[in-house]
Amino acid sequence: MTQATQSTTATFKALKCKECGTEYEPKATHVCEFCFGPLEVTYDYDALRRTVTRESIQKGPNSIWRYRPFLPVVTETPIDVGTGMTPLVKANRLARRLGIKNLYIKNDAVNMPTLSFKDRVVSVALTRAQELGFTTVSCASTGNLANSTAAIAAHAGLDCCVFIPADLEAGKVLGTLIYGPTVMAVQGNYDQVNRLCCEVANTQGWGFVNINLRPYYSEGSKTLGYEVAEQLGWQLPDHIVAPLASGSLFTKIYKGFQEFIKVGLVDEKSVRFSGAQAEGCSPIAQAYRDGRDFVTPVKPNTIAKSIAIGNPADGIYALEIAKKTNGSIESVNDAEIVDGIKLLAETEGIFTETAGGTTVAVLKKLVEAGKIDPSETTVVYITGNGLKTQEAVQGYIGEPLTIEAKLDSFERALERSRTLERLDWQQVLV
Ligand SMILES: *Cc1c(COP(=O)(O)O)cnc(C)c1O
Ligand SMILES: [Zn+2]
Repeated sequence: MTQATQSTTATFKALKCKECGTEYEPKATHVCEFCFGPLEVTYDYDALRRTVTRESIQKGPNSIWRYRPFLPVVTETPIDVGTGMTPLVKANRLARRLGIKNLYIKNDAVNMPTLSFKDRVVSVALTRAQELGFTTVSCASTGNLANSTAAIAAHAGLDCCVFIPADLEAGKVLGTLIYGPTVMAVQGNYDQVNRLCCEVANTQGWGFVNINLRPYYSEGSKTLGYEVAEQLGWQLPDHIVAPLASGSLFTKIYKGFQEFIKVGLVDEKSVRFSGAQAEGCSPIAQAYRDGRDFVTPVKPNTIAKSIAIGNPADGIYALEIAKKTNGSIESVNDAEIVDGIKLLAETEGIFTETAGGTTVAVLKKLVEAGKIDPSETTVVYITGNGLKTQEAVQGYIGEPLTIEAKLDSFERALERSRTLERLDWQQVLV
């Protein structure tokens, strides 16, 4: 394996242990040899302050790579499949329904190429994987990561072998197989898949995007912070709500905001961070509720499979951020998740998957509990697409009206449906 030489224009420097501060060369490694803490990428922020401006960013590509100086790659031609710069939608109808005023949706349900935020982290990880000389890439996935890794590896001409729990939704499995990788469906939950992959990472010379490449991979999530700041007109919101699986995305949105403040791209501001989990897998929310600063692993049992990580690697850091920003971490049950999916679809025309249903349901709960001020500028992160988890809403969304190809058949059906609607409303009113 060849170590890419650091170009003079690269602003990322090293890997640094988040716990003890030991620095490492930026290779394929992710834990500290001394204290087993996670490693994180460091940058030359003085150089960034001198060289990056709002204009230089705006002149860049319409993808996450407009923020290339803030990402841990050396090359000037990263793998760009159009990932990022997803819409930030002013969600007036959902806001009104909830009783708040300034609500935005960051819509990664339409992220490219595989319709989840994971395309961001994988674009960065595979670019770095190529720089480090890997020819085979891999991951332990709850579904979306496998979709992204397989698709972007196909585009980049990398060999790919992904590991998923055997009980994933059909759409997630098909949405991986189509790109032609090797797919290992492991009989076990995500945490068991992950443990197996840690062993495989030690025996095969593969780049695992969320294991030995994790420090690079996780930096990709910062772009969800940068884009929101840029799309709000170079301002930070007052409050964000995002889903928590390993907790990585949540902590990296925070890092993204802090970096933009540090290099002077936005004004200093304290943003409140609130996290969303599914009750059937809510180790971070439970720790928050109990006032603990450690996370006790759980065995997942929820329809929100994409965020069902029972032993979250960045759980303690997510807890810390929610606490110090005066945010919150909440959980909702499966029925509330389905209602969250429907609420977002019916008010904003956005079909999200179970993770997004969880986030919307938690948003609603936070508003009802008075934990979101109605006038706060609040951004909700919708991280995945509903077409991939269709079984979650099957049976809760009604049926089409089957009619003959005749006008009177249509008119009778229309009358029937209006009567049903009226009956529905009467039931609501009594
Ligand atoms: C992976 C995933 C998340 C959360 O990821 P973490 O960084 O592990 O917390 C959220 N939403 C969706 C749809 C995901 O696939
Ligand atoms: Zn350390």
